[in-house]
Amino acid sequence: MNLVAFSIRTKGLHNFARRLWTVFIRFGISETRTRRALHTIINTLRKYRGTPTFFIPAVVLGRHPGLITEIANAGAEIGIHGYVHNDYRTLGKEEQYRQTKQAISVFQRTRIPYQGFRNPYLGWTEESLNVFTELGFTYETTSIPDDEIVFDRLRITDAGEVGDIWCRIMRRVYDLGGLYVLNLHPERGILCKQALDKLLSYASNQAPPVWVTCLKDIAQWWQERCRSRLNITQLASDRWRVEASCTSRATLLARHLIVEDQPATPWSATEVQVHAHYCTVNAPRCPCIGLSPHTPQQVLDFLLEQGYPAMRCSQEASHNMYTLYLDLAEGLGTTREEQLQRRSALVRQIEDIDTPFLRFGCWPDGTQAALAISGDIDSVTVQDFFLRILEVH
Ligand SMILES: [Zn+2]
Repeated sequence: MNLVAFSIRTKGLHNFARRLWTVFIRFGISETRTRRALHTIINTLRKYRGTPTFFIPAVVLGRHPGLITEIANAGAEIGIHGYVHNDYRTLGKEEQYRQTKQAISVFQRTRIPYQGFRNPYLGWTEESLNVFTELGFTYETTSIPDDEIVFDRLRITDAGEVGDIWCRIMRRVYDLGGLYVLNLHPERGILCKQALDKLLSYASNQAPPVWVTCLKDIAQWWQERCRSRLNITQLASDRWRVEASCTSRATLLARHLIVEDQPATPWSATEVQVHAHYCTVNAPRCPCIGLSPHTPQQVLDFLLEQGYPAMRCSQEASHNMYTLYLDLAEGLGTTREEQLQRRSALVRQIEDIDTPFLRFGCWPDGTQAALAISGDIDSVTVQDFFLRILEVH
């Protein structure tokens, strides 16, 4: 045997042994390690009055119903992570439907309630969304960054450093008023306990606060929020009566407006939070978006769903009467790409309005951003890890 072949073979073998060792260290033969890791995440979140969301392939749930029932009873939300751990991008619609239904039946049999779906390998197609809707899921959560990037590709394993990275991401999300869904594989739960604590403590110390919650509660909130409406009527040339018909949790924000009759506290450089769902405001124009008669209904629906006040108006009346007048005859486009692009451009335009305006905040009860801690239980034991390879093929 020549030296090169020898070194490749031994190096390959060495790498294989190292990987095998890592798998044993991470999972173990019994449920003990995974159980400890899951409870570590649940307990860390409990201090911040939050609960995690774990996604699990149905076959893995089928082998560990006791453990999953136990962590669901401890407060964790459980979601579906495929029937087996495979990539939906390699499946046609019918096969996606069949496997998702099969996964649901295992959840029903083991009596684990579920509302959401996360695709293994974060792989999905346009058809997946239709499958999930048809099968009654409340949400899917696939468009998120994976923790593998930090740990396996960048090889950052120092808890302090990981915590700093997560806090920096939280800062960016907070400034945008968005949602940060952290994906933390439970086998890293103990290694990342300190980093997770750092992130949660950072999020909890913001004012206005961050809403730390699980994914099903976020899905429920969006359903609740999208039904909120603002009715604005004119009282005098520069006085407006505002009545919100909305959930009691809604956050009402007023930009460049003097609120006459209700308590209001500073929210951002240009906005105040009104601590009531009705008020009288002073402004030279209606603090609302006017839509031209040619603008399709889908634009109006989108604006209302986003928490912006909008109403139809005639062309002549328009320009000087509303804080923003929109004439979007071409609508929001047809392809998914086009729709995303036009919708985000429209939101940006509205968020940049520098004249009197009212809107609903994105998050409930005066919170400015949201944070959800999630994780995929791809395997509970070493056996699951190896069975996964067989199950997918
Ligand atoms: Zn996974």
